[in-house]
Formats: sequence, C-alpha cells, structure tokens
Amino acid sequence: MKEPLLVIALGGNAIKQAHEKGTTEEQFHNVDVTAKQIAKIAREGFKLVITHGNGPQAGALLIQQEETNGIVPAQTLAVCGAMTQGQIGWMMQNRITYRLHEESINIPVCTIVTQVVVNQDDPDFQDPTKPVGPFYSKDEAMKHREEKGYIVKEVKPGVERGWRRVVPSPEPVKVVESEAINSLIKKSIIVIASGGGGIPVKENPDGSYSGVEAVIDKDRAGFKLAQAVSADKFLILTDVEKVFINYNKPGQKALDKITVKEAEQYMNQGHFLAGSMGPKMQAAIRFVKEAIITSLNKALDAIKGKTGTHILP
Ligand code: ADP
Ligand code: MG
Repeated sequence: MKEPLLVIALGGNAIKQAHEKGTTEEQFHNVDVTAKQIAKIAREGFKLVITHGNGPQAGALLIQQEETNGIVPAQTLAVCGAMTQGQIGWMMQNRITYRLHEESINIPVCTIVTQVVVNQDDPDFQDPTKPVGPFYSKDEAMKHREEKGYIVKEVKPGVERGWRRVVPSPEPVKVVESEAINSLIKKSIIVIASGGGGIPVKENPDGSYSGVEAVIDKDRAGFKLAQAVSADKFLILTDVEKVFINYNKPGQKALDKITVKEAEQYMNQGHFLAGSMGPKMQAAIRFVKEAIITSLNKALDAIKGKTGTHILP
C-alpha cells in the first residue's frame, strides 16, 4: 500500500517560545523537541513534508541589518527570508535525522530553500498590513521612511515606541520548486520546504524570478505547498490543542470534527482571529481533504483521531 503523504505546518513555538531570547541553544532545544514528535509520526508510516514559520528569526535578523548599517550593507527582506529558511531548515534536518536514527528509521531529511510566486497586483501591495522587525519611536519611524522608503505604521497607539515597518502579505500563487520537492518525496525523503511562507518572488517577462519586499503568511503558503505535493492530510501544529468557537468569550466551545461547510460558517461569523487562527482555518478550508489543527505535543494523538480539531470534506 502506498504510504499517505502528510504536510505538517509548524507554528512559532516549535522553534522559539514566547518568553525566550532566541539563542542558538534555545532554538536547537525546541527544534529537538519538535523533531522527537516528527520521528514518532514518521514511525506511523507517513511520508512527510514539513513547513514552518520564521517570524521571530526574521525579526532578529532585521534588527541585525539595521544595527550594522554603515559597516556592512543591509540585506533585503527577501534575502533575510532565504537566510532564515537555511537557518531553521538546518536545525530541523539536523535534529530530525538524529531522532529518526534513534527510532531506527533510516530516512534522509533535506531542506529546499523555496521561492513562492506572488501576484504584483495583489491588493495587499496597496495597503501593507504585516508588521516586521523592531519597534520604533515616531521620529525613528519617520527617519526610516525618509531614508529607506519603509512604509511605517503605528501598531501600538499611545506607546512611546509603538511604530513598526509594515510590508505587504500577498496571497501565495505558486511554489517554484514544486517539481524538485515532488522528486524528493517520491524517494521517501522527508522535505522541509517553504519555511517562513517561502521567499516571495515575482515572475519577470523573461521567465526569471526576483525577490519582492513582502512576507507570505506561513499557513496560507502551507496550503499551497500541500496542494503542490498532493498531500493526503494537512496537519497544522500551533499552541492550542483544539480550535474554539466563541474563543475567550461566554459560550466558548472546542471543535472536534467539523465539515468544511461548518468551518466556513464559523469563519464568516468571525470566530477565528485574523493573523492567528484565521489563516489556519482558511488554509484548512481550502485544502478540502482532511486537515487537523492541534498542538505540537498532541500531534500523534490527533493523527490517530483522539484529539485536535478535524476539518473534513
Ligand atoms: P502560530 O505561531 O502557531 O502560527 P498563532 O499565535 O499565529 O500561532 O496562532 C495560534 C493562536 O490563535 C492561539 O494561541 C490563540 O491565541 C489564537 N486563536 C485565535 N482564535 C482562536 C480560536 N477560535 N480558537 C483557538 N485559538 C484561537
Ligand atoms: Mg501565526
């Protein structure tokens, strides 16, 4: 029997916990905890493709670009996206390989630094909403706007340093490296791809691609990846075991099994917050086949149907 293909989208806590500074040791430790779960899932007989966020890592890298300005040239957001894909990809392939070995599973693990095509006329380019990098005072924000052409917005009104750079978060259109990824999957290699939502690129008239200053939502990109590899299941791992309706409100209720149609209704009623659960639920709805949203430590139980929120056709 053909092994089912599972795409796993890992949330930020798989690499850095909110209270941590984000040292190399901390990140490796978290990735190792994640790797143990992934090895257990691999043991169940799934082919695996893994994707992940990069928010805290890209944010730190952007601060490094600014603080060393005048000493070495600052790199673009697209380059920072490529760098964090390499960074996190290495940590994952390193720890997953080790944890597989521990389970006596001999499967190679490989990271593909992935580009994702976006549409130049995506409406988000007109009114960017995704905050990236450090917080600024109003004066600093205005200086960056003058000197670097940043679009800046006050994201925390009334606070001394409440300003941030904002960039567009366009819809992912196409995974450029999908053929390479699919060839690796055919060989049963575990692939880490499209990290941080992938490097956003535009397609030029001569057929080449160039980086654009944007950030693609990792859950939306995770859906595109799941589609590009024809995944059988899509597992979104975050920091909650189940999705709720009336989240943090009277009448809060955990969702176990719901249909795509029910998910759409709840979505339209505003039960899932934009920027966190909203894009996850949207990705699950678009996937159409079974998608599961749960926490990292419940992943295996959720795959076995014991917990998590299952979104079914
Ligand atoms: P990740 O790094 O995994 O993408 P996010 O913080 O973006 O994590 O998304 C997970 C968060 O979504 C949860 O911690 C929770 O605060 C929030 N959330 C918003 N709406 C809901 C909901 N309806 N049910 C459960 N969690 C929700
Ligand atoms: Mg998120």
